[in-house]
Amino acid sequence: MTTSILIVAIDGPSGVGKSTAARMLAARLDVPYLETGAMYRALGLKALDEGVDPDDPSAVEKLLTRLDLDVELTADGEIVVLLDGVGVQPRIRSAEVANATSRISVHAPVRRFMVDLQRRWASRRGAVVEGRDIGTRVFPDTPFKFFFDAAPEVRAARRFEQLRQAGEVASSLSEIQRQVLERDARDSSRAESPLRRDESYVAIDTGLAGPEEVVDQMLRTISARRRTLESG
Ligand code: C5P
Repeated sequence: MTTSILIVAIDGPSGVGKSTAARMLAARLDVPYLETGAMYRALGLKALDEGVDPDDPSAVEKLLTRLDLDVELTADGEIVVLLDGVGVQPRIRSAEVANATSRISVHAPVRRFMVDLQRRWASRRGAVVEGRDIGTRVFPDTPFKFFFDAAPEVRAARRFEQLRQAGEVASSLSEIQRQVLERDARDSSRAESPLRRDESYVAIDTGLAGPEEVVDQMLRTISARRRTLESG
C-alpha cells in the first residue's frame, strides 16, 4: 500500500456518528470522504427492488454481476451514490434497506466486490473512509485508525433522528434500538471481515464528546503520528 496518500480509517457500530465526523475531518484534511455503508446500502436496495433474497448466496452472487455502482461527491462534499447511473439518496436510508443491507453484507463475494471498489476509489486522492472493516480489511496498513463507540441508547437515539429526518416515523425508539443491536450483532459475528477492534486503533467514545471535539482529537492524533513517522 502506498504511503504517499493519506488514508484515515474510521470504524464502529451503527449510529455512532462516523459519517458526520468523517465528513468534517475530510474537509479539514482536504481529502474526499467515503461512507462505505452507503455502498452496501445501494446493494441492499437493489436486492429489495429486484426481489432477491439477501440471505441466498448464489442469488446474491448473480446480483453482483449486474451491479453498476459508483460514488461521487458534490462540490459541497455531499455523497452521491449512483446505482445503475441513478442517485439513490434518500431511499437507501430506510430501516427496511438497513435490514436487507446488514444481511447481504455477510457474503464473501459482496465483501470482495466492495473492498476492491473502495480501495480503487480512495487511492486516487486519499480519503477519510468510514465503515466496519476499513482498518482491518480495506486499508489495514494505514497508521491512522479510529474506532468509535457509544452506549446503545445514544446510538439508537441518533439513528431514530436520522430516520425521522429521512421521513420515516413508523418505528419507536425501543424498536430502533432493537434493530441497531441486531445489526451490530450480525456485523460483529460474521465470518467475513467482522466489525472488530484491535490495538492498532485509537478508541473514541462519541457519547461523551460532540463532533467538533471528536474531529479535533483525531486531528491531534494524526499530526502527532505524522511527526513520529517522519522522524522515524
Ligand atoms: O454504516 P451503515 O449503518 O450505513 O451501514 C449499513 C450496513 O452496511 C451495516 O449494518 C453493515 O452490515 C454494512 N456495512 C459493512 N461494512 C462496511 C460498511 C457497512 O458490512 N464497511
